[in-house]
Amino acid sequence: MAAKLLDGKALAANLKEKIKNEIQGLKARYGAAPKLVSVQVGENPASEVYLKSQRKNAENLGVEYHLEKLDAAATQEVLIKTIDKLNKDKNVHGIMIQMPLPKQIDAKLISRYITPLKDVEAVHPQNMGEIVFGNAKILPCTASSCMELLNSIDGLKLYGKEAVVVGHSEIVGKPLALLLLDKFATTTVCHIATGERGRLQEFVKNAEILIVAVGKAGLIKGEWVKEGAIVIDVGINRVEGKLVGDVEFDKAKVRASYITPVPGGVGPLTVAMLMKNLVEAYKIQASLFKA
Ligand code: NAP
Repeated sequence: MAAKLLDGKALAANLKEKIKNEIQGLKARYGAAPKLVSVQVGENPASEVYLKSQRKNAENLGVEYHLEKLDAAATQEVLIKTIDKLNKDKNVHGIMIQMPLPKQIDAKLISRYITPLKDVEAVHPQNMGEIVFGNAKILPCTASSCMELLNSIDGLKLYGKEAVVVGHSEIVGKPLALLLLDKFATTTVCHIATGERGRLQEFVKNAEILIVAVGKAGLIKGEWVKEGAIVIDVGINRVEGKLVGDVEFDKAKVRASYITPVPGGVGPLTVAMLMKNLVEAYKIQASLFKA
């Protein structure tokens, strides 16, 4: 069997078209475009690609975009004050903090200062908590990208399916596991300790839905993949100048029914999801303001 590719680029293009139209409608109704502010502390080459993509996507979709740059030596207090100013600014609808932050700043603490209504990356504990109750309007972008890829598979029912998530980070693995549970998938989360006990292969072999978000090239051997499994590879690794995921793609694709390529799978969807969150945040703020 040769797996069908889950084309994140095409899905993202479709989604962005819908977002663009919705933004036009919101502009006509409320008289202003959604505004996204990205806060960056210091320079970081790793963030540049993402920042460029944010700006380009914002331009294409009719979003007002501003990059607020703080000095690399900025204190935590200065960053909190900046966030507070943006929280209070009625013309700003979405706030995101560029990672990584310099050592003097505690990223986990900072996420608590963004007002949940403007938290377009869903890093605030309140937005994370809403996922537990199945009420979240704003979802972590990478986790929701994985769900979007699953939703794109015609006729797929997650109800009762064996889903395995490898990686338990706060931005990907943990929220994703909750989103899968919400759809009644029988969800197992594997992490470093699973690997250390030598049990990763056993869990992966049972997965009808396998989602891997670790950041280790070749961690998941192709022959571990269950025949007919759906494989979503979130990992991004640079090997000999090429981008690859965490799953051995060539070997896995002959066993899987669907698989995401890297690049071109999850990646292109994440910015689209960010913009979807911004639109959601705008709508919530517009309705509150009206009331
Ligand atoms: P992270 O915070 O470093 O988390 C990695 C997770 O993998 C941790 O839960 C870690 O467990 C676990 N892990 C490490 N070694 C393992 C092993 N041998 N077996 C099983 N689990 C293991 O990374 P992240 O932010 O979630 O990102 C994961 C990957 O996805 C990275 O390659 C990143 O570049 C990529 N990513 C892609 C996108 C996209 O848009 N495509 C977005 C975000 C991230 P411990 O914490 O217990 O060590």
